[in-house]
Amino acid sequence: MAETTDIPANPPEQRELRYDPQRIEEKWSARWQTDPKLYAAEPHGSKMKKFYVLEMLPYPSGELHMGHVRNYAIGDALARHMWMSGYNVLHPMGWDAFGLPAENAAIKNKVPPRKWTIQNIARMKAQMNRLGFAYDWSTEVTTCLPEYYKWNQWFFLKLYEKGLAYRKKSKVNWCPECATVLANEQVVEGCCWRHEETPVEQRELEQWFVRTTNYAEELLRDLDKLEGWPEKVRTMQRNWIGRSEGALVDFEIDGWGKKVTVFTTRIDTIYGATSIQLAPEHPLTAELAVADSDLQEKVEDLLREQRKAKESGDIGEIEKHGIFTGHYAVNPFNKEKVPVWVANYVLMDYGTGAIMSVPAHDERDFEFAQKYGIDIRVVILPRRTGEPPAEGEPDEPMLPYVNKDSMLINSGEFNELSNEEAIKKMTAYAEQHGFGKATVTYRLKDWGISRQRYWGTPIPMLYCEKCGVVPVPEDQLPVLLPDKVEITLQGGSPLGNVPEFVNATCPKCGGPARRETDTMDTFVDSSWYFYRYTNAKLSDRALDTATVDYWFPIDQYIGGVEHAILHLIYSRFWTKFMRDIGIVHNDEPVLRLFTQGMVIKDGAKMSKNKGNVVAPDDMIARFGADSTRMYSLFATSPDRELEWQDAGVEGVHRFLSRSYRFVMRNAGVGGSSAAGNGGQSATAELSPKARHIQRKLHQTIKRVTDDFQGRWHFNTCVAAVMEFMNELYAAEDEIAAGKFPAGILADAQRKFVLLIAPFAPYIAHELWEVLGEKKDLLRHPWPEYDPALAKEEETVYAVQVNGKLRGHISVPADSQEPFVRERALADEKVKASIEGKQIVRVIVVPGKLVNIVVK
Ligand SMILES: [Zn+2]
Ligand SMILES: [Zn+2]
Repeated sequence: MAETTDIPANPPEQRELRYDPQRIEEKWSARWQTDPKLYAAEPHGSKMKKFYVLEMLPYPSGELHMGHVRNYAIGDALARHMWMSGYNVLHPMGWDAFGLPAENAAIKNKVPPRKWTIQNIARMKAQMNRLGFAYDWSTEVTTCLPEYYKWNQWFFLKLYEKGLAYRKKSKVNWCPECATVLANEQVVEGCCWRHEETPVEQRELEQWFVRTTNYAEELLRDLDKLEGWPEKVRTMQRNWIGRSEGALVDFEIDGWGKKVTVFTTRIDTIYGATSIQLAPEHPLTAELAVADSDLQEKVEDLLREQRKAKESGDIGEIEKHGIFTGHYAVNPFNKEKVPVWVANYVLMDYGTGAIMSVPAHDERDFEFAQKYGIDIRVVILPRRTGEPPAEGEPDEPMLPYVNKDSMLINSGEFNELSNEEAIKKMTAYAEQHGFGKATVTYRLKDWGISRQRYWGTPIPMLYCEKCGVVPVPEDQLPVLLPDKVEITLQGGSPLGNVPEFVNATCPKCGGPARRETDTMDTFVDSSWYFYRYTNAKLSDRALDTATVDYWFPIDQYIGGVEHAILHLIYSRFWTKFMRDIGIVHNDEPVLRLFTQGMVIKDGAKMSKNKGNVVAPDDMIARFGADSTRMYSLFATSPDRELEWQDAGVEGVHRFLSRSYRFVMRNAGVGGSSAAGNGGQSATAELSPKARHIQRKLHQTIKRVTDDFQGRWHFNTCVAAVMEFMNELYAAEDEIAAGKFPAGILADAQRKFVLLIAPFAPYIAHELWEVLGEKKDLLRHPWPEYDPALAKEEETVYAVQVNGKLRGHISVPADSQEPFVRERALADEKVKASIEGKQIVRVIVVPGKLVNIVVK
């Protein structure tokens, strides 16, 4: 139907038919701002069922990007759906406000980091409000404010008290670009996580560490509980924690009076060990090299190669090099002397930094032994004890043979044991004889949290000449970050240049003390921020346990998969630590996690360098916030990468325009919902078109509801809602002619508005008002569907073969003849009765009968 037809609605002449998102969105945005309690949750004593929906808090760079918009559009749709489903919803937002870009901006633009950050927050908050995101700003958390970072310091003191924060000198990852230390988790393929092209260097520094490894076992084990997390994230964490079971075995260095401890997961192959390999950084390597300048030089080469391979992120692919040290080690099992080598493929941070090399049964050792002509001795056969070799099977397996479903040979008293038995017995033997034991190692390392930067939480520690390291007493928190600081990227922590900050009094002896000038890694801030949202104004505690008990765990957390390891391991660790000091009771912070796909443009990640950035403000100016948000959900399913197309946003805008015009024209038909009969008309009385609309409506409600509760394919939800609007348009002739039941139409329009409310809240609120609704749309009950009304109507056909009844088939009521014929011929009973016969013809009497003539 043409869209210029006369409008039967009342009063038509006054209605503006053109969809003007700017007018509508500004009107509602202004209205929403006047009610700060609009999105506030009920306090925790509420009888309502709670739902905590959370999107990862942004870094206040000053500008939202499309990745943010997508992330928040998903969370906002869910929050709105849950409000409409009757839940007490907590939907907060905050700012991960410490960090290096503020310092860089300070250097570049001469704006103090605090000022820059606060300005950016104001700007991004305005963008969020313009986009219509339903955040409860009364719970806003800004991590750079003393009322927040005071609690980082308090937690640090607790960690220190429990022996979970400690100081040690160690080789650390150093990004020359950031001019600071990076945690292992912040090194991505050998480069800085912020500077993807800057290789990370190693430096020796005195650092504060948090003992995350104390929780390695629990962090790993509890991954099994996280069924609401994407499997890929759980796998990434499992690999990162990297548990391996094995044994430590001591080899004496012959004639040296020292021993080297190797870590092996295959003690069953120890009789096949034909050399010992040390990491270039192993302390023994240095000792052996002291007396041998030639060796020392070569070790340095190996170390350089190893670092280079580490930096490029492919240590597994390193071309293997090594040097014989001239020394031998004694295998404690068979007293055999084997050469001690230093090799570039052995890492100091795996196991003990020393391995026994078993070339016959390990691929890397095999490659190395072949290259340097080291003995290769088979100690495992590919068959079980008592089994004869298969016919034609060679005496020895193809090497390297790494399988474990096999038995031992050439292994003294352990011959003919299976691998599993051998591992148990040989570990016990080593333990009995005092040269080894079973052990578990982890790839996970302790978390280095010291940063030589200004814009972060000061670490609340003091150094006194008399008393040594002294924690700042709790009642002196927060240690305030001074404002007047000259920021450079050279010469260590900028706080070191602020005498008022550095010079302090020792709380123990009253003498002079020096403050720690490093600040905390900003991942400390984000490890627990979501607890603070539940009681953001609390001034005497970090959090209120009863409130946290009510809200936690977070029901749905939404963010980028790039946080699968860093943030999501740290925050799991922090929760377990908080539980162990008795301030929370949950073991895990997040029940369900969703990682949305990236937003790209022209096949690449959006970046200023590539000039392919789409600015949310431009999209809002051209198409409105609703279209921008809805497009980011409609373009593809939220877990997939989204290739941004302006034409797609335009398409969504067209759909919203059509929807707007339809409701403006038809809002008055049948009056408000109170006057209409809400679609309760008996289906028998309805015209086919009205019944069709009713059925489509219930099908659409089912589809959207199911997706919210299941797979979150909002793209198909939005498509279904669009289809439904097309159906309404197709009925407009009948509506205009006054032949369409007013109750069905009123019901369809109301529910259509309810269905789009989570995706396009502005237009939904506007149309809700146009429909004469007085109650608040935000908390209006989500529409329910009636399965009976959603069901497709079926017609039963009798199927005859040569005039004799052979069966019945049931097909959708509007099925066409070829489909009915095909289904009749596919019926099992019919197939049996025409088997081997020739079909002459098939007659379909619509709605009644299929007759198959055969001979
Ligand atoms: Zn960097
Ligand atoms: Zn002192």
